[in-house]
Amino acid sequence: MSTTDSSVVVIGGGQAGLATAQVARSLGLDPLVLEAADRTAGSWPHYYDSLTLFSPARRSALPGMAFPGDPDGYPTRDEVIAYLHHYAAHLDADIRTGHRVHQVTAHADGFEIVTSQGAAFTAPLVISATGEFSRPHRPALPGLDDFTGTVLHSSDYRSPHPFAGRRVLIVGGGNSAVQIGIELAGHARVTLATRHPLRFMPQRILGRDIHLWTQRTGLDTATWARPLLTGGKGTPVMDTGTYRAAFASGNPDRRPLFTRLHADQVEWDDGTREKIDVVLLATGYRPTLAHLGALAGLDDQGWPRHRRGISTVQPGLGYVGLEWQRSFASATLRGVGADARYVLTRLRRQTRSLDRTRPAAAER
Ligand code: FAD
Repeated sequence: MSTTDSSVVVIGGGQAGLATAQVARSLGLDPLVLEAADRTAGSWPHYYDSLTLFSPARRSALPGMAFPGDPDGYPTRDEVIAYLHHYAAHLDADIRTGHRVHQVTAHADGFEIVTSQGAAFTAPLVISATGEFSRPHRPALPGLDDFTGTVLHSSDYRSPHPFAGRRVLIVGGGNSAVQIGIELAGHARVTLATRHPLRFMPQRILGRDIHLWTQRTGLDTATWARPLLTGGKGTPVMDTGTYRAAFASGNPDRRPLFTRLHADQVEWDDGTREKIDVVLLATGYRPTLAHLGALAGLDDQGWPRHRRGISTVQPGLGYVGLEWQRSFASATLRGVGADARYVLTRLRRQTRSLDRTRPAAAER
């Protein structure tokens, strides 16, 4: 097995990995991007057909390349995929698709990165940018295992047509739950079951997209803003007013989380029961970090141990693309570039100071 050296290996060639490579280049590093899939569009091709961005094009760009089209328009999923391909094609970086990283091991001088295809690489720095949207989270809801109807995760959802005329229960109250619920309501009877009431955030304030205001006020990238923006009760849903109107119409509707599921029924918290055909879990995702093994130091919930994207377990290891890694904008198109810069700059400092404390090669 031959080994290739690089100054930083970026695992994952979605938006987070590509932005990291771009920033690494601008810092004078020599990035190598290893992407498992045969293309560099991350998870976007797997999201539902009607998905449009919640931020306008002018606030959805990765570092170094504007998002094309109407700057105030909200790009579609397919426009994001096209943008990411174009971005990768213009990146001055070594990008290798079809390379799934199988194992990363730490040595005195850095890391060895081995792919499932048997290729090996070494680097003093590793950034894991494998997304946190790869492993659908399916919570253990009472009675779910015995439910005889269809159970899906929002990651399985593509379009409303297969659900025509069915009774659908969506679990969750975030952006995906609301968008899918409203789309489905044109074809089916839909209820969102949520722990907390839905929270809507106006998409536009004083005629301008909210992202303009969150960026101008610094809220978008402020590390301390989490409690302010989520109130500890989930991420608010951006709404131009159409979502609220849709819920006001009664289909979809929202109810508190049910007591339990029975065979083909849901039992609501007031004790009433109702027949349900489909349970759709819009309950989020967890990252897949098996390739890092013990280096990630996963906590009980499956999240890697880190501080603002810098591993607190392994020097030289960082993350880009984790939700709320540093701020509201982390894990979004507009936010990953700043996080990548933060992480790479600090990791470089960290490894330089480690170099100073290491005995010289001759002394070892
Ligand atoms: P991913 O897109 O998941 O890319 C990770 C890449 O890593 C993949 O290509 C994968 O193949 C690769 N990989 C994984 N494991 C390995 C391995 N072991 N070795 C090599 N490669 C590996 N963000 C916005 O900015 N605006 C939006 O409007 C928006 N809407 C969203 C709607 C939905 C339904 C969801 C789920 C997310 C949305 N996001 C949005 C959030 C985020 O921008 C996307 O989820 C985005 O895909 C995350 O990019 P990423 O690069 O971090 O991860």
